[in-house]
Amino acid sequence: MSRLSKPERFKAVIGWFEQYMPIAETELHYDNPYELIVAVILSAQCTDKRVNIITPPFFRRFPDAAALAAAEVEDIFELIRSCSYPNNKAKHLSGMARMLVHDFGGVVPGDVETLQRLPGVGRKTANVIASVAFDKPALAVDTHVHRVSARIGLTYRAKNPLETERQLVKYIPESKLAIAHHWLILHGRYVCIARKPKCDECGLREWCRYYQTKAQDAPRKGPASAGQAAMTQ
Ligand code: SF4
Repeated sequence: MSRLSKPERFKAVIGWFEQYMPIAETELHYDNPYELIVAVILSAQCTDKRVNIITPPFFRRFPDAAALAAAEVEDIFELIRSCSYPNNKAKHLSGMARMLVHDFGGVVPGDVETLQRLPGVGRKTANVIASVAFDKPALAVDTHVHRVSARIGLTYRAKNPLETERQLVKYIPESKLAIAHHWLILHGRYVCIARKPKCDECGLREWCRYYQTKAQDAPRKGPASAGQAAMTQ
């Protein structure tokens, strides 16, 4: 087993993603920051596929923050009822739109700290909006990013998403933070899946701490959980 230093591991993993996943983007459909913030709020604990079914009629009915701010929570609920936690999300969407209209002239702010003032917008959502819609050097940590980073060995004993974020941003160049979020999410969604990572078809085995240690020692056992923090926003 090769013992890699942290910078060596990051360099190798980033290099692999750059070669094999040069384009990595959100799977949510959106046309502007308002649509992205709505889609990201809806996507907490829900699949992007489901959100992409909900949002077209939603945006026809509420095309901007002003239209959404003027809506009753019950009417918002009706359009998102097939999503997880529709009650809470309807309240968050209403509160978010009202604050956008009253405090920000209906325009979605672009910086992480200000975004977090909006109802329903936690650090993860704020980082997604800042990086995806505004091209800011931010790295959003969701359950996939948290788990995959721990398994590969990019992070060490990070107890929560904020610790994961802090450890990752130390070694990932600013210019690659936004795409690194998508690399790790997509890898976690389709290859390094939570219950049973597909190590046999994973190109990162050579640099993966989990594979280099546990998987080879106990090939028939499932992976230990990398720790699923509650990451809903
Ligand atoms: S080798 Fe296995 S544990 Fe490591 S990143 Fe790939 S799928 Fe995940």
